[in-house]
Amino acid sequence: MDTNQLLKKKRFIAIICTGLIIACFFSTAAFCQSEHVNPWAPAELGELPPVASITNGVWLKGELHVHSRHSKESSNNPVKKIIAFSKSVGMDYICITDHDNHVNGDVAHNTWADPEFKSDSLLLLYGAEWTTTRGHGNVFSARPYDHQRLYDVRDQRDVVVGAIKKELGIHLSANHPSGKDHFGYSYDMVNSIEVWNSAVWSKNANAIMIWDDMLSSGRKLTGRGGSDAHHGEPIPPEQETKNTYQAKANYVGTPTTWVFATERTAQAVVDALTNGRVSISANPFGPRVEFYADLNDDGKMDMMMGDNVKSTGKPVKFRVQLTGKITAGSVYTIKVIKDGNKFGTFKIDGQTAVIEFTDTPITIGRTYYRIEVEGPPTAYPQVPGSMALSGNMVGLSNPIYFNFDPNF
Ligand SMILES: [Zn+2]
Ligand SMILES: [Zn+2]
Repeated sequence: MDTNQLLKKKRFIAIICTGLIIACFFSTAAFCQSEHVNPWAPAELGELPPVASITNGVWLKGELHVHSRHSKESSNNPVKKIIAFSKSVGMDYICITDHDNHVNGDVAHNTWADPEFKSDSLLLLYGAEWTTTRGHGNVFSARPYDHQRLYDVRDQRDVVVGAIKKELGIHLSANHPSGKDHFGYSYDMVNSIEVWNSAVWSKNANAIMIWDDMLSSGRKLTGRGGSDAHHGEPIPPEQETKNTYQAKANYVGTPTTWVFATERTAQAVVDALTNGRVSISANPFGPRVEFYADLNDDGKMDMMMGDNVKSTGKPVKFRVQLTGKITAGSVYTIKVIKDGNKFGTFKIDGQTAVIEFTDTPITIGRTYYRIEVEGPPTAYPQVPGSMALSGNMVGLSNPIYFNFDPNF
């Protein structure tokens, strides 16, 4: 064999080998493809729990994040003042959430043991701000619980924290999730997320982004508000502090979280929060956005925000309405968000305060819709500086869900 023939033979063998390798690769790929079944792929869900009554209940408004004198950096804000103010602006419930690290986890012998921690008309939730190296979260409970255990476990792995949370039977909520003290834990162990922290609406954009990410990935997570107010108006002989100015711009009710509760009890408030029958308004006097859906085109609404049903493949009629004080002649912009993306924009005027739209959620896989409302601010004379900070942001609904797996 001369050199030329040898080269030709080598080239021939190389081509054959390459061909074999490619053929082998494709056949393996084809083999893998046909054998692989993703056990997590969207599939038809079994029966979902029935939707609760959308009429037997009461809308209650409240504040879910406020600090009293039991938080070290708070000023002029004793429990008595917070309760009196809350009643004066018509709140139905509040949760005083002092920093647990300021009392080494012992909120039971501080905030809750304060002789002023009582009210004959306002529902008082038991809670605290879980203040940890990895971020902040609020606990909401209808009754006292062993907060010390949650404080003690704060630096453990999420699987350990989650187990303790479950044992305590509490509602845990991620606070200001993208701020300086972001929420650095798994969202799998929380029931809600603070998507509207303080009167300064503009700083919440990243919290909304995180919320949409969690919803889009299958987590049925309630969005809620909280003023995070630390400072009260001094009543003599109390003295002004360098932070007193905040009391005029951010205090109880900026924003206000509304819940559709089955009854006027602390437990019903916590349950409504967990179930997502929740709407947030810029202040206690602003209009509340309500969001409903008619599943069978009989003109009667069948579900509201927070509710989850199986999609039938038929079109669903949605209704958005503003309830409360609406100035005649004012125009509000209703933004519909579907699966984290803008779906449509509508205008509501003070005359009707209702809009409807139709869409068909997919039959296999999840869909959610939620509402944002912009428009003229409503006066809140007790916290006059809050209007400028909230700008045009009027209200936020929780989602209406389709095909969300309750066992996710
Ligand atoms: Zn905080
Ligand atoms: Zn706080």
